Amino acid sequence: MSSPLEEIIKEKIASEGPMSVGAFMALALAHPEHGYYMKQDPFGRAGDFITAPEVSQLFGEMIGVWVADLWQQMGAPSRFVLLECGPGRGSLMADILRAVQNVTGFHEAVDIYLLEISPVLKALQGEALEGRGVKWCGCLEDVPGDVPLIVVGNEFLDALAFQQFIEGRERVVDVRGDALVFVPEEGEVTEMSAERAAFVKEVCARIQAQQGGALFIDYGHVKSGPGDTFQAVMGHEYVDVFSHIGDADLTSHVDFEALQSGVEIDVHGPVTQAAFLKALGIDLRAGMLKRHADAPQGDALEKGLHRLCDSDQMGTLFKVIGFTHAHDTRLTPAGF
Ligand code: SAH
Repeated sequence: MSSPLEEIIKEKIASEGPMSVGAFMALALAHPEHGYYMKQDPFGRAGDFITAPEVSQLFGEMIGVWVADLWQQMGAPSRFVLLECGPGRGSLMADILRAVQNVTGFHEAVDIYLLEISPVLKALQGEALEGRGVKWCGCLEDVPGDVPLIVVGNEFLDALAFQQFIEGRERVVDVRGDALVFVPEEGEVTEMSAERAAFVKEVCARIQAQQGGALFIDYGHVKSGPGDTFQAVMGHEYVDVFSHIGDADLTSHVDFEALQSGVEIDVHGPVTQAAFLKALGIDLRAGMLKRHADAPQGDALEKGLHRLCDSDQMGTLFKVIGFTHAHDTRLTPAGF
């Protein structure tokens, strides 16, 4: 049985012609009524996939250390914006704030913004961050432009639309009989994402104008290269991208080389998630927490650490890239 969104997409193709892979992805994820992110909580064990902040508090704590260190390098400005892009359930921001609770002046200075499209996730973020005075925004223009800015985003860029090309022609989604198909179906695929590149460029322009830095973590590759990485995940399994439209998460791998092109501020990394977290002291932190933990908690910490850092888990596939303003006072963010 096809989903309501599949029917909507087929009708659109029938009346307007084939649509680009990017347009298909944008509709599947963000259609106001039936889009994947508009109607459900996709995370956790019962959900479709599990992300680093949901794996272990250690992840967010290390990002908190990174943010606090950068803020201090910036001269501990008395007011600044901390923006999280695509905050999911709000766990990362909650862990960041807990990790920095003893950093003098941080809490008085920080103004927290969350960039989010999903009404379901906004509600969960509101619960996780109750009493923190967070503000939501739908685009970067809604973020104050007159104070320093620190931006973080975990698994945000992969959710932005991308394009595929075969032999120089943009690959599209069309209808054959009653089925959605790619045209062309065969050939060497190259990918690019105008949306991701534009978003990172805009963030970097804001950072250069306002001072500060950004950190993006995602799965992907350090160097550009051919390959079809379009994927659908539902219930922790890979499924066909056309099989559960609106009910499966659609993403593609992030090309970290492409993210840097045309960016004129300081770039750090990309490095693997394992290298980044270890440089920030995740092993030490896990050891400290374990000393005060009972046996099941100790086990969970150990499991989380392995999941985040082992190369057959998230340690190598996931990469971290940092951007900082290029002023006279250069910043050297931790972890790279
Ligand atoms: N950072 C979280 C969630 C990652 S999933 C974690 O690591 O657990 C992607 C997140 O980005 C979700 O919160 C989703 O709703 C949000 N998102 C996806 N596309 C978006 C867009 N175009 N604008 C704003 N938020 C978006």
